Amino acid sequence: MNTVRPGVGTGSRIDLHCHSTASDGTLPPAQVVAAAHAAGVATLALTDHDSVAGLGEARATAQASGIHFVNGVELSTRWNGRDIHIVGLDFKLDSAPLLEGLESQHQLRRQRARAIAAKLEKLGLADAYARVGQQAGGGQITRAHFARLLIEAGICRDARRAFKQILGPGKRGYVASPWPAMEPAIGWIIAAGGSAVLAHPLAYRLTHSKLDALLTAFRAAGGTAMEVCTGNSDTTDIARMARFAQQHTLLGSVGSDFHDPAQRWRCLGGLAPLPPTVAPVWEQFRTAA
Ligand code: AMP
Ligand code: MN
Ligand code: MN
Ligand code: MN
Repeated sequence: MNTVRPGVGTGSRIDLHCHSTASDGTLPPAQVVAAAHAAGVATLALTDHDSVAGLGEARATAQASGIHFVNGVELSTRWNGRDIHIVGLDFKLDSAPLLEGLESQHQLRRQRARAIAAKLEKLGLADAYARVGQQAGGGQITRAHFARLLIEAGICRDARRAFKQILGPGKRGYVASPWPAMEPAIGWIIAAGGSAVLAHPLAYRLTHSKLDALLTAFRAAGGTAMEVCTGNSDTTDIARMARFAQQHTLLGSVGSDFHDPAQRWRCLGGLAPLPPTVAPVWEQFRTAA
């Protein structure tokens, strides 16, 4: 039974952005929930890249440990020539537009993975497609999986270098992003009764005016919230994001973007509380007690 009301003002007890082996996280969904529980998280959303495959296992584990669980997903989209990530929260799983959208994302990921693998094979990485598929184990294949292969093969020293030297835009292993525009992806989340949240607004490295334009377009397309506190935000970032949220009449979300316990800078629940000037997205959840 869920007895925990999403806490107001408890900040770090809420984490609405993390990954499991259903995409590029290193822990299976049940272990993500166990790790969140151990970290004192009371309200958790699992938000795998373009996949809801981990939600059943995560929800069952969360219920057993008394964690309030929220359905989540992180959609890969395009806006103004950039990859923009939209987190969907608290949606129904039986929505046809969302499920069809996710199936289309799955096909796009497979096709892109084949194309990236072909490029990496030319760089001397044998059997890249088979190996990345084996590593993903049926979950969505992301560039993070290719980065791990490149490190294993001794071609790159770490993930940052793998992206900078090979997997990033314009590099030898890059394949143009195939993602849909941001607006229809937001529509899938809305059709499923969920809230669309702009993920990690600072990760796009936009100028102030470009971020302003992105938030305007996001809001116009039906987006309701933005992440104000993320795993690596400092107090200046949080104050800046809170001002943007206020200016654009957006609710605030908090999410670590946890992928791997070895990455200490984005640990589950390791988040600052939402500033009081921003209304929390979780107060709108259908499942809030
Ligand atoms: P994809 O969605 O397949 O393009 O893969 C993007 C994923 O790769 C992100 O969700 C991160 O987990 C990871 N990633 C992206 N850029 C970097 C980077 N510079 N260093 C390490 N990991 C990255
Ligand atoms: Mn990722
Ligand atoms: Mn992301
Ligand atoms: Mn993420």
